[in-house]
Amino acid sequence: MPTLPDRKSYDVLVVGMGPAGATAAYELSRAGVAVLGLDKQSHPRYKVCGGGLSSRIDKILDEEYKSVVEHTVYGVQFTYRGEDPFLIQSPTPIAFMVMRDRFDHLLLEKARRAGTEVHEGEQALQFLQLPDGVEVITDRGRYKTRVLIGADGANSIVAQRLFPDRRLSRMPTLESEMGIGRQPVYPGEGKVLVDLGATAQGYAWIFPKKERLSIGVAEFKGRPASPRGVFDRFIRDEKALSHMAVPRPHGHPLPLFSVSGASAPDGLVRHRALLVGDAGHLVDPLFGEGIYYAVRSGQLAAAGVLGTFHDSRRSLLDYEMDVIREIYAEFRVASRVARIVYTFPRLCHQLMHRYQEVINLYYEVLQGRESYQTFFRKAKGVVKASFREILKETLTF
Ligand SMILES: Cc1cc2nc3c(=O)[nH]c(=O)nc-3n(C[C@H](O)[C@H](O)[C@H](O)COP(=O)(O)OP(=O)(O)OC[C@H]3O[C@@H](n4cnc5c(N)ncnc54)[C@H](O)[C@@H]3O)c2cc1C
Repeated sequence: MPTLPDRKSYDVLVVGMGPAGATAAYELSRAGVAVLGLDKQSHPRYKVCGGGLSSRIDKILDEEYKSVVEHTVYGVQFTYRGEDPFLIQSPTPIAFMVMRDRFDHLLLEKARRAGTEVHEGEQALQFLQLPDGVEVITDRGRYKTRVLIGADGANSIVAQRLFPDRRLSRMPTLESEMGIGRQPVYPGEGKVLVDLGATAQGYAWIFPKKERLSIGVAEFKGRPASPRGVFDRFIRDEKALSHMAVPRPHGHPLPLFSVSGASAPDGLVRHRALLVGDAGHLVDPLFGEGIYYAVRSGQLAAAGVLGTFHDSRRSLLDYEMDVIREIYAEFRVASRVARIVYTFPRLCHQLMHRYQEVINLYYEVLQGRESYQTFFRKAKGVVKASFREILKETLTF
């Protein structure tokens, strides 16, 4: 075994420089903390992702990211197995579409400019909790850090090694990027497509970018026998795609937030290590939105770490409490909505068509004007009154 150089010390070592890690690194570096950010890949790098940012990202990111926005979304075209299309639009943007290679690279460079030492193409392999920090061994060296931030995505090695009792499931997804050159985007300028019937308990999407379409399917409950079969059927059912040569899709797990019964999800802090973004399963269980929560958890983690550096009575557990208050409270409600949507997808498709004000309310969640909690209260009022009547109609049909 080759001898490793003497370890170098940092205040914070971040494993993974996607949106969660790059944001945490940026916030810490600009506060004057010595940060090392490692990424096993070199940026800009491809990431399997729809690249849809809900427009409330404006509340937590400065304008700079707008330079990589490829498509602004004002409406969703809903279909059920390629049929029964309807479009619900908003006068103001509900989402921005980005390609993840450019978006993530921008965040990484922002962290580097703020002072983060970034090592690309360096993979973290092992971690050892020390009384006053963590030792990290990579394929190139070893380091000591007062705090370790695990931002290494859905297959997090930090979570596997330092949080071995976390037993959260990850859902299968498939996505293909299809170049369309200068052809008009589909389903149209300012729109995305969502099909609730494409898969048994999930949805399929077409998210347009400047010269390509991100086409994918994700399962949100249970596992299909053949995700590839589901993807192929979606392409067949979607008339605009059925004659096109859609490239082979890539698979990637989606680490959805989940709770079993009343129990709390597993913790995000162990001794001197914490998890952010996908590594901590901070993905919205209704539509799989993870980028917003990656950025936000990176910010909360940085604030928690800075708190402990400035005041020895503070604990890293403050970060976990902030996530429970701000993110889990929302995800618990989103889980309840997801249970309804993915148990009765056809009925929900019909309900959405008929009660478009509920979708407009949901758009306000994406825009940051409502929370899931206020949305649910208001939407329940609308849907409850009509649910019995619609169910009766559907059963008769
Ligand atoms: C098919 C699909 C579609 C999606 N669509 C959307 C969408 O439209 N909108 C949305 O908001 N979310 C979407 N998501 C979720 C979103 O992609 C994630 O939530 C988001 O990427 C999480 O960011 P992150 O920084 O936590 O992790 P990542 O973006 O995965 O970044 C992790 C980084 O860690 C690095 N890394 C991993 N292991 C190591 C190691 N051992 N050492 C060093 N570096 C390491 C990786 O190279 C990577 O750069 C989608 C996910 C999938 C799978």
